Parts: sequence; C-alpha cells; structure tokens
Amino acid sequence: MTARILVVDDIATNVKLLEARLMAEYFQVLTASNGRDALEICEKGLCDLVLLDVMMPDMDGYEVCQRLKNNPKTSFLPVVMITALDLPEDRVKGLECGADDFLTKPVNDLALITRVKSLVRLKSLTDELRLRAHTSKDFGLEKLISRNSLEFEPKERKILIVDDLPSSYEKVVHVLARDHSVTVATDAQQALFRAAEEGFDVVVVSLALGEYDPLRFCSHLRSLERTRLLPILAIADYEHEMKIIRALDLGVNDYIRRPIDPNELLARIHSQIKRKIYNDLLGDSIQQSIEMSVRDGLTGLHNRRYLDSYLGEMVKSAQLNDKPLSLFICDIDRFKLVNDRHGHDVGDEVIREFSGRIRKNVRNIDIACRYGGEEFVVAMPDTDTNLAAIVAERLRSEIAAHPFIVAGGSKQLPITVSVGVSTLQGVDDTQSKLIKRADTALYQAKYNGRNQVMSDHAA
Ligand code: GH3
Ligand code: MG
Ligand code: MG
Repeated sequence: MTARILVVDDIATNVKLLEARLMAEYFQVLTASNGRDALEICEKGLCDLVLLDVMMPDMDGYEVCQRLKNNPKTSFLPVVMITALDLPEDRVKGLECGADDFLTKPVNDLALITRVKSLVRLKSLTDELRLRAHTSKDFGLEKLISRNSLEFEPKERKILIVDDLPSSYEKVVHVLARDHSVTVATDAQQALFRAAEEGFDVVVVSLALGEYDPLRFCSHLRSLERTRLLPILAIADYEHEMKIIRALDLGVNDYIRRPIDPNELLARIHSQIKRKIYNDLLGDSIQQSIEMSVRDGLTGLHNRRYLDSYLGEMVKSAQLNDKPLSLFICDIDRFKLVNDRHGHDVGDEVIREFSGRIRKNVRNIDIACRYGGEEFVVAMPDTDTNLAAIVAERLRSEIAAHPFIVAGGSKQLPITVSVGVSTLQGVDDTQSKLIKRADTALYQAKYNGRNQVMSDHAA
C-alpha cells in the first residue's frame, strides 16, 4: 500500500516518531508543523490521510479538521486526531468536526497502523466512486459535496443493531431509538439477510456476539454486492483489542468501546450516516450518467451510441455460436408533414407513442433503439429472416391500424411506417454491412410506396 500520509504536529520529535513508524510500513510520509501548511498540502491533493495533533498553537487540530471537512476539495480525506487527553467530550468534539478516529498519546503501534490501513482502504473505495462520478460533470455533480455539510433527518435513517444479549443492546437501542428508526436482530444469519434487503444506513455489530462469529458476519457484509459499502460500526469491550484490529482489517468502518458514551455513539453513528448518504449520492449520479449516456431522452429507448457499441458484440456472438441474428430499421412515413401540420410538440408525441409501440412488439432480449430523428432500429438475436419479417410486419400493421391519439386526446393521426429487414450472412458479415442492407431495404420500401416491409434478400 503506497498511500501518502500527512503527519501534522507542532513538536518535531512527535513528527519524527510517527514518520518512522509509518515509513517502516512503506507509507509515504509528508509532514507539517502547523495547520496552515497542512491545509495547503491537503488542498493540493498531495496526501491520502491526515494524522492530526489536536494541541497546536494558532490553529488547533479541531479547526484544521473542520476546515478540511467543510471544503469539498478535501472533505473526503480521512482524518485521525491524535490527542493527549482521551475523554468522551474530546472525542465528541472531534467527531463533530468530522474526524474519523482518535488515537491517544502515546500512540500504540498496532492501533495506528491498522487504523491507517483501514481508512486508506475505505478511502480508495470512495475514490473509485468519486473518479467515476467526476466524468459526469455535465450532470451537475460539481455541486457535490462536502460530506460534513450533508444534512439529514435522523428519523428517516435506519439502523440495524446486531446483538444477541439484551443487557448489551438495550443501552444502544435506548440512545439511538429516540431519533432514529432502529431494528434489533439477535440472529446474525437473519441480520445478514435483512441488511441486504431492507436498505439500512448503518449496521451496528456487537463484537461480543455469542452464537455467530461477529467478524465472519462483517466479512459477509463486505463481500455481498448490496452491502459492500454499507457502513458498519462495531461495539467493543476493552478486552477486544485484537478483535477490533481484525474488524478494521475486514473493512468495518468504525468502532466504539464500552462503557458507551451516548454522545460519542450518536456522533459516530452520524458520521457513518453521512458516509452512506455521500456514497449513495455518488452512486446515483454515476448510475444516472451511465443511463443518460446510453438512452435517448425523448423516448427512453437506447440511443445510437449504445447500439453501435452493442451490435458488434451481438454479431460476434451469433457468428461464434452459429445462431441467426436479424435487425430492422423503421422510419415513420412523411413525418415532416406531421410537424408541418401539427407542430413540433405533436411530432414529439408521435415519436414517443411510436417508441412505445415498438417496445410492446419486441422481446426483452431484443435491443430497440432510436437511431435518428424518426428512425428506429430493433436488433433481434436468435431470429432468422422469416421471423424478423413477421415481427416487422406485426409492428407495421399495428401502427397502421390504430391512429395515434395526440394533443390531449383532441387529435387522431393516421401514421404509417416503412421497414427494412436484414439478416446476418455467415462469418464474414459485419455490423456495418448488416445495417447497410437494412437501410437499402428500407429505401426500397419507401420507393415502393411506403407503409410496407422489405427484406434484404428481396431488396
Ligand atoms: P419519409 O417518408 O421519406 O421518411 O419522409 P419524412 O418526412 O418522414 O422524412 P424526412 O427525413 O424528410 O423528415 C423527417 C423529419 O423528422 C424532419 C425532422 O424535422 C423531423 N424530426 C426529426 N427528429 C425529430 C424530433 O425529435 N421531434 C420532431 N417533432 N421532429 C423530428
Ligand atoms: Mg420518415
Ligand atoms: Mg427520415
């Protein structure tokens, strides 16, 4: 792991000490002796994680942390505060500034390295999302997001508590149930199932779980696609040091020790909820940009770009498996007249209704796309010439038989369509030849008087 760690401390010997330990684990280390320098290094994107001393002259660690977390350019950087004091109120204050964890001086080696590794790994997951989301700038993503600034309504947030000891989960429930929707699962198998199905925001797992190994539970959550990014907070007893380390290695996001301080629990839960919302936002915008790049906005059908990239695969697969493949191109007849007589909006309505009828007439495995203005392509795997001509004819007659009702029901327009069908001819045939032959057949259908289907062999 070659992550870049920034160590910030006003006392040079503390910096040296941490630097040596991190370098021994092959991390790259940068250092700063005050808050301003630290902020500058972070803003330039030079580091992946910050180890931040709390007590510094001028700008203390809390303020540095808060500034980092409020700046969208740096808000995703994990911050571990290093404190001399270890009181719940200090931890709460740090968590409220957005810190991801605390280590107490003198810093325990194992705790330091485990925590750093775990946070770096979690960050690389989010980086992957951020990177992909960044390519979709056009979709308003640049407004995103400093994680600290995310607002949410706790009551709408769902927490799953996995614990089989009432004496252990009752306090946790008591603290969380006041403001959140809380579910307790005493059976870990059941909990796994529910976590995958019910859309929780955070899972709280007791490391004292008796019946089922809590670490195995956490590792299952991490391996399932649907819960891969679901935040996990572990609850640990003091003797659980090794378990905590294993848990962090497995991808648990955070932990809290008993006796549980209610404010600290709430602060940790809230920072995990923000993590969840942040990841969901990134995920949604990626999803949306993927959708938008392959779909046509007016009709919701696939667009030409999608067909162009997908048809090649269909051709290869048909040739490899010696299966038939057909497609047709259809083009609305005299569509220009619809626009001229009824206006562009009615024209759009016709295109939408037309695409709806195509959808109804093809199978799920067929690819229907809007190829151009009033021109559509349907590619049909496992379909020979005869069958393709039947499908095309069924669509043509359905269009011709039922006028299009538009303009809020005030107009009925007779619409017809011409169709050109083509079928893959052996291993030397190509995507572009296939399209070309369908286009030629379509031209023939237009030439012959429109409202008809022509096939490439007949054309
Ligand atoms: P043909 O039977 O030969 O296909 O005649 P046509 O009028 O349908 O063909 P032409 O290609 O001359 O005209 C197509 C028209 O479709 C022209 C264009 O303005 C219109 N058009 C293309 N895209 C859209 C659209 O998204 N909405 C609307 N309303 N019209 C569109
Ligand atoms: Mg036309
Ligand atoms: Mg046209």
